[in-house]
Amino acid sequence: MAKVVPDPLLIGAHTSAQGGVHNALLIGKEIGATTIQLFTSNQRTWRSKPISDEEVALWHLALKETNIKKVMSHNSYLINLGSCKKEILEKSRLAFQEEIQRCHQLNISFLNFHPGSATESSEEECLETIIKSLFKMEKLCSKGTTRLLFETTAGQGSNVGYSFEQLGYLIARLKDRLPVGICVDTCHIFAAGYDIRSQEGWEATLKEFNQKAGLKYLFAMHINDSVHPLGSRKDRHASLGEGKIGLKGFKAMMQHPKLLQLPKYLETPLGPKLWIDEIKLLRKFAK
Ligand SMILES: [Zn+2]
Ligand SMILES: [Zn+2]
Repeated sequence: MAKVVPDPLLIGAHTSAQGGVHNALLIGKEIGATTIQLFTSNQRTWRSKPISDEEVALWHLALKETNIKKVMSHNSYLINLGSCKKEILEKSRLAFQEEIQRCHQLNISFLNFHPGSATESSEEECLETIIKSLFKMEKLCSKGTTRLLFETTAGQGSNVGYSFEQLGYLIARLKDRLPVGICVDTCHIFAAGYDIRSQEGWEATLKEFNQKAGLKYLFAMHINDSVHPLGSRKDRHASLGEGKIGLKGFKAMMQHPKLLQLPKYLETPLGPKLWIDEIKLLRKFAK
């Protein structure tokens, strides 16, 4: 397959929405990003107020000015759509619905979320509860264009979604009723045991992804190196080249024709100052 470098090449980072969501776009522009991820509300509280009309207007203006595309929202860390506890499950479903509404207000392309945690149930029960939770969002989803993306997890603690098989199962059950997909986080899949340190490693990983989940459901990527080794199931991000994946793995990723066109968001630890260089580096790798 011939490699065609897309223009613009969609690379960015998770930028801060402090002082208003539009600021995340402005910071993105400053660091050379062509796409961004953000939190549309405080990610550590259950309830948050809707976005005001004034803020929505500022957002759309900033979208035009910055020309930033394929914006992704990262859902609250508190949400567990697979919880076996009634109270948490209800709060989670409500918070998720409110997030979809904010995404629609802002015309956001992707809503990225952690699939769920099997805290006191089996993984199978957790997956079924996630599916039931998402079916409840069907009508709301149809009112906008935001696609819901399961983030691949490292399999830390009781988190589900660490294997392509589990993600493929969720997609297969949901795809006919909801706009769903997957966001691959490089740190997480590496920690979950997928070796992406070389071109051959990426080939094998993507082959398995395609067999178990389907490459057509891969819509975006989180780009992070990993502090912990292959298969450690520990989620801790490192700057590119400073972790156990290494620059060779990220170069192979940027060179891969199946991955090149996907929007990519850095969540590496040092923030905007280093993101400028990391974005440049990834662009260089694509050439
Ligand atoms: Zn991530
Ligand atoms: Zn992570």
